[in-house]
Amino acid sequence: MVAMAASTADLPAGGQDPAAAGLDQQLLRTDAAGMPLEWIDFRAAVRLYCLGQVAYSCGSPLFRIRGGWNARSARRSMVEVHSIVATIGRARRLADTHDGYVPPLNNQTLFARDGHLCLYCGEHHPLHELTRDHVTPLSRGGRDSWGNVVTACRRCNNHKGGRSPEGAGMQLLAVPFTPSYAEYIYLKGRRILADQMEFLLAHIPRNSPLRVRLGRAMGGGR
Ligand SMILES: [Zn+2]
Repeated sequence: MVAMAASTADLPAGGQDPAAAGLDQQLLRTDAAGMPLEWIDFRAAVRLYCLGQVAYSCGSPLFRIRGGWNARSARRSMVEVHSIVATIGRARRLADTHDGYVPPLNNQTLFARDGHLCLYCGEHHPLHELTRDHVTPLSRGGRDSWGNVVTACRRCNNHKGGRSPEGAGMQLLAVPFTPSYAEYIYLKGRRILADQMEFLLAHIPRNSPLRVRLGRAMGGGR
């Protein structure tokens, strides 16, 4: 493997907010049909380029990664990494990315689904104050699944205790839902670039509760 030197200093013009794109910027990997698959870092992207796995790239060019010297041409290889990298082949298991897919439940994406708001008091809280509340408590047969969990601040969660919202005299501000695959990828993203967002949005239905909930963040700026 060639030694890699990464630089953000010589970014081409026209990149999407290139100044903000540090080397920790996540890149969106899709299959050849454009189905979002996962977030990868620039190292993984360069590996895909080197292995000839990249079908095409779109979005804004973010990094130029210099590789090794080619003995025959005496030229140094250069890989330009874009914000969206489409790789050869289709999603391994199509069912994974289509109807019926249930993403793994974890607090990071649950809190993101609910916009980091407590769905009882409606207020923003720091991450360490957020908890996973089971709408129907586990002790009452509720399940630990997307459709039965919401983000709640510690205070509201403690107040609710082992009761249902009605039993505790509390009102849920939004109905919990199971994210689709594309929504899950969106929820896992950190500092999603505008072009990546646009790409993901194309895979999120108009009537998605996520669009409604994050309307301002997702719909603005266009
Ligand atoms: Zn609360």
